[in-house]
Amino acid sequence: MIDLHTHSSRSDGTESPTVVVAQAARTGIDTVALTDHDTTSGWAEAAEAAAAQGIALVRGAELSTRHHGRSVHVLAYLFDPEEDRLAAQLRRVREDRVPRLQRIVEHMAADGFDITWEDVLAQGEEPATLGRPHLADALVAKGEVRSRSEAFGRLLYSRSPYYERHYAIPTEEAVRLVRAAGGVPVAAHPFASRRQRALGQEDIAELAEAGLAGLEADHRDHDAEGRRLARRLAAEHDLIVTGSSDYHGEGKENRLGENTTDPAQLERIVAASSGTTPVLR
Ligand code: AMP
Ligand code: FE
Ligand code: FE
Ligand code: ZN
Repeated sequence: MIDLHTHSSRSDGTESPTVVVAQAARTGIDTVALTDHDTTSGWAEAAEAAAAQGIALVRGAELSTRHHGRSVHVLAYLFDPEEDRLAAQLRRVREDRVPRLQRIVEHMAADGFDITWEDVLAQGEEPATLGRPHLADALVAKGEVRSRSEAFGRLLYSRSPYYERHYAIPTEEAVRLVRAAGGVPVAAHPFASRRQRALGQEDIAELAEAGLAGLEADHRDHDAEGRRLARRLAAEHDLIVTGSSDYHGEGKENRLGENTTDPAQLERIVAASSGTTPVLR
């Protein structure tokens, strides 16, 4: 069983890389990818855990990008984390997430919510990529809401008056930089439409032209139609098709292995990578 999309406490998952990998092994997963938002800081710990558990590790990240004004998550697999231009872009995204969250906190505090920046920092462990989920957890800790999902549903959703953007890499640039770093870019949940407008067929064509290598088809935020569309467009543009859980520990309901990737598709990812950052088996 292959699960190519998980988050640890190095971004907005609630478990350490060690625990994520151990949970994956316990679930019967033989190959897991750690894909924290905009960071590779969990790779070393995940590698040790994977060796200890006897499962394979695909090192990756989920990049925050923007295409025609729309937020697009790009899963990047097996890239060289030392490649300067990509590393600089990831750093820029992580750094800009701080003032962005501070603006949200200030706005909420001005409206009478019992929340400070220190409360948010208390939720993210160094060196985590900070995001709205950490603010959600701080609001839970302060008794303003009962859960992450209530925080998102009432206050932090993308069209909320409190919402603020952060810097995101232009998607075509992200795709090119991942390729230049020897990695393999796959669009994460491209047809999820619950939180914002899904990508269109023209977007996929443009991104495929720029070097996008695959589409995540099987994901809980895709309905049957979205999954079919992903497979049809993948066939049309010769793209890899993946499926995954997008596990966040207790931070989301997504369960490890709830969607999986076919071994032949993983082999296509490996074949498309430069080999600098191999699958650890
Ligand atoms: P940010 O990157 O700071 O804009 O926050 C986006 C992250 O929030 C996503 O990666 C999701 O993991 C998480 N998220 C979005 N909506 C929800 C929700 N309703 N419940 C829990 N987590 C969510
Ligand atoms: Fe997340
Ligand atoms: Fe995502
Ligand atoms: Zn994710």
